[in-house]
Amino acid sequence: MAGETPGSAPYERADAVAADGLCLRCGVCGGMCPRNAIAFGADGLPRVGDACNRCGLCARVCPGWEFPLRREQHAAPRISGALSAVGAVEKCCLCHATDPDVRTRGSSGGFVTRALIYLLETGRIAGALVAGADDGGPLPRARVARTRTEILDAAGSQYCLFPWGAVLREIRVARDADGPLAVAAIPCQAHGLRKASRLAPDLARKIAWTFGLFCSMNMEPDVVRALPRARGLAPRAAGRIDFRAGEWPGAVRARTPPGGTVELFSREANEGCQAVSHMKWTHGQPRCLLCPDRSNALADFSVCDPWIRDAEGRFTAGTGGRGVVLCRTPRAAQLVEEMRDAGAVSCAEGDAADLLPLEGPRCEAQRAQALRRIARLRRRGRPYPRFDLPLPAARAPAPAELAADALRRVLRFRPAGALFLALAFSPAGQTVSRWNAARKRRAWRRTA
Ligand SMILES: Cc1cc2nc3c(=O)[nH]c(=O)nc-3n(C[C@H](O)[C@H](O)[C@H](O)COP(=O)(O)OP(=O)(O)OC[C@H]3O[C@@H](n4cnc5c(N)ncnc54)[C@H](O)[C@@H]3O)c2cc1C
Ligand code: SF4
Ligand code: SF4
Ligand code: SF4
Repeated sequence: MAGETPGSAPYERADAVAADGLCLRCGVCGGMCPRNAIAFGADGLPRVGDACNRCGLCARVCPGWEFPLRREQHAAPRISGALSAVGAVEKCCLCHATDPDVRTRGSSGGFVTRALIYLLETGRIAGALVAGADDGGPLPRARVARTRTEILDAAGSQYCLFPWGAVLREIRVARDADGPLAVAAIPCQAHGLRKASRLAPDLARKIAWTFGLFCSMNMEPDVVRALPRARGLAPRAAGRIDFRAGEWPGAVRARTPPGGTVELFSREANEGCQAVSHMKWTHGQPRCLLCPDRSNALADFSVCDPWIRDAEGRFTAGTGGRGVVLCRTPRAAQLVEEMRDAGAVSCAEGDAADLLPLEGPRCEAQRAQALRRIARLRRRGRPYPRFDLPLPAARAPAPAELAADALRRVLRFRPAGALFLALAFSPAGQTVSRWNAARKRRAWRRTA
């Protein structure tokens, strides 16, 4: 099945992909269904309604069961060998927005937000597809932001699944004359968008730039209710969750309409993004364990938080944060230079292997582990996602992998997960996280 084209899906409809446990909850099927027959449940999975005429388009655009990653990613990588899973890199730099407000509101230095604003203000795009706040609830909603304020409002990482691609319907009906868009997306969203664009040239024409976020795992939608609950706050009292609020690396805060915020996990405890690590145990999407594209290999730019330490073990990003920006194409490299010359971003070019001391090897490890898991599923005759990447020989999982899977299964049982989060997010749990961060700094000093 490797390299199969989007026209030959063994699935008839999106709900069959979901029934086989392969859905990524990207929402793209909902945005592309010509009959508008797909709604999304509270779990983010597609539900097909009576309007469906079984045309099969939703399955053909679905990245959950198949994606030709090798064929679709940019060609001619300048870096190879140990970092091959990072993909093609034309230019690699350590960047942050120069505007302190943009820098602080972004997750890791605000490059993505600043670039979207720059493209808008220089007239190259008419809007940006971002993860905006939804007035009706705590989950984000994909929306086309058409002003600086709207783009800035959507800054930051949303570590929760939501039917992002449902907005493609709105984009498709917009007139070409309304102007092109830039898109911020995690890798599986970018895969869905690519498959949809291949089948719908009208959509492809409207997307001028893609800003890819690295992604190692995303959380079940329910996490946005579980976090306030973990700190004794009624979920109904909380609006959008800011997972990386304020100075880098950011605190976890719930917005409490109108205008208030409640801190759920402090910045000091969140060194190394420990809040997200806790959430991965209780709410991590199991399908993410089969994902080989941490680095968002299709995007024009792929951006990550590099977590670089100095000799003392302190992170060098300071309190503003910095991101590593992989420019995948010459025009992306040119745009970064232009933004730097215009004073919009601070930018230092470097070697990808040096700037990705953690994320580079993690991309390799994640891909290798995903392909090992896929090979095992195939051997057992279970449903598995198809990528045009060679599968290794299937072999039994290592004891550490088995133990981690068992712990995840226990913590996905909601009462156990709720107890775990309540402890991890409690004042005592946060003291343990601070101690853990200090322990890692000391360990780094010993080996530096
Ligand atoms: C689920 C998730 C997992 C991640 N995992 C990793 C990781 O393992 N390692 C790593 O180095 N980096 C990871 N990142 C990326 C990192 O958190 C930053 O997003 C990235 O470094 C860009 O920072 P920035 O300050 O330039 O972006 P910002 O200026 O904060 O802009 C981010 C843009 O992306 C949009 N956005 C945020 N979340 C989503 C979402 N879920 N879906 C679609 N659009 C969204 C925002 O609306 C905004 O426009 C992850 C991000 C997400 C959302
Ligand atoms: S398109 Fe996305 S949301 Fe729809 S079934 Fe496929 S993976 Fe799931
Ligand atoms: S009408 Fe077509 S695209 Fe829509 S749900 Fe039915 S099969 Fe899928
Ligand atoms: S790890 Fe992969 S599948 Fe999971 S949310 Fe991130 S991009 Fe999607």
